[in-house]
Amino acid sequence: MANSPPFEIAIAGAGMGGLAAALALAKAGHTNITVYEMASDLGFVGAGIQLAPNMARILDRLGCWKQIADEAVQCYETSIREGSTNKELGHVALDYVEKTYGYPHMVGHRSSLAGSIYDGCKKESDKITFKFRSTISDIQFSPRPSFQLTPRDSEPYRVECDILLGCDGVKSNTRVAMLEELNETASVVDTGQAAYRIMLTRDQMKHDPELLALIDTDTVTRWIGHRRHIIAYPISNKTIYNISTAQPDDNFAEAPTASYTTKGSKSTMIQVYGDYCPMIHRMLDLVPEGEVCEWKLRVHAPLSTWVHGSMALVGDACHPTLPHLAQGAAQAIEDAAVLGVTLAPSRIADRRPETINKALKVYESVRKSRAEALVELAAENGRSMHLGEGKAKEERDKVFAALKTGKGPVPDKWADADVQRMIYGFDCVTEAEKACREEGLVAKLDA
Ligand SMILES: Cc1cc2nc3c(=O)[nH]c(=O)nc-3n(C[C@H](O)[C@H](O)[C@H](O)COP(=O)(O)OP(=O)(O)OC[C@H]3O[C@@H](n4cnc5c(N)ncnc54)[C@H](O)[C@@H]3O)c2cc1C
Repeated sequence: MANSPPFEIAIAGAGMGGLAAALALAKAGHTNITVYEMASDLGFVGAGIQLAPNMARILDRLGCWKQIADEAVQCYETSIREGSTNKELGHVALDYVEKTYGYPHMVGHRSSLAGSIYDGCKKESDKITFKFRSTISDIQFSPRPSFQLTPRDSEPYRVECDILLGCDGVKSNTRVAMLEELNETASVVDTGQAAYRIMLTRDQMKHDPELLALIDTDTVTRWIGHRRHIIAYPISNKTIYNISTAQPDDNFAEAPTASYTTKGSKSTMIQVYGDYCPMIHRMLDLVPEGEVCEWKLRVHAPLSTWVHGSMALVGDACHPTLPHLAQGAAQAIEDAAVLGVTLAPSRIADRRPETINKALKVYESVRKSRAEALVELAAENGRSMHLGEGKAKEERDKVFAALKTGKGPVPDKWADADVQRMIYGFDCVTEAEKACREEGLVAKLDA
């Protein structure tokens, strides 16, 4: 490909998946990447995010992990408690994670994660162009991918490209277009769940010693109860306490598919957690009126494929995942890293659609079953954390109690050693390189 023009790569969406895909492709040697984002800027809601070692490993290779880690908080333990009493059900030390997987389990601010990947992209500004306030629609797949681009302040026009990556999130237009083309549908699975996301400052918490102790820990705490839980941890050098919840989505019952976020009511939120302990009430009461946001948690049935022609789906567009395993963004970033391997210019011999499709199919082969297994595991973890009174809950709590006397499985799956081995121990880049060799996508370096 030495003398041929560079591949034109279009990326729909500048979320975690789109940003990481742009950076991974630029690092792989692509020089003509455009990211189209309908929002005016990165626009990340104020919220924290767990930064698992499998995510950290990729971001380190892409050169942006240090900046994120400098602002993040390392978690040394997780405590799972009964929401109604604050009694500790189980406690798991996480300090071995770094020794075992090379990276610690950290938690951070979404804007720090996205901003650092974006900064990485800006260092590749000769290769990556960002077009904000630009919405993609009317996607066509052949002979080359094309779409209508509607900039917010000017007339729409059509764009053609060699490769289109649909990183446009859970409400993906690119997914809808692909499924229409294939005469398929992706049935929306009603999770019945919604989430509040809240951030409290140290200043807001400092007058309450019990709450101040929470922000000063290195602990991810989950308070569980029937059909609901709260998970919380300190972020931004312990200046902010990040709280995320999951509860029945009663506030969305009228329009579950039209809108996934709504302004939540503080009094409803306090009612929803009415049977939780007084400390949780004091904590939720610190949230200023008008600052409660609620998200509908949405997933859909597995797709038959993530790839059509020279287009591939990435991240929540193809595997929206409940947050109960803290892996959605990590999996979008794994998608991006694998695309950086399979689409490397040194591996694609020419720009024919068949050649590109073959590379995208290798991406799908490395990613689809793994991401879908984690979608299912996250849902299962939610079911287990949300058990009501009865035999199943008694059994779960016995397994939690056994943790105090020695090792055993952890019912909160993200903290279970075997699950962590499966999630953190998987190096998607090594797997992608292996799959490329098996499929004959051999880079000059491999040969
Ligand atoms: C409560 C909650 C907690 C979570 N906690 C964690 C966690 O701790 N760890 C973790 O790894 N994951 C977590 N996740 C999951 C994670 O947030 C998502 O999986 C991840 O952000 C998905 O990234 P994405 O790039 O695929 O999609 P998005 O972040 O949704 O990005 C899609 C982008 O595409 C843009 N877009 C959409 N349509 C168009 C269009 N037509 N044209 C142009 N642009 C378009 C959107 O504006 C958006 O910027 C959590 C999720 C929730 C809801």
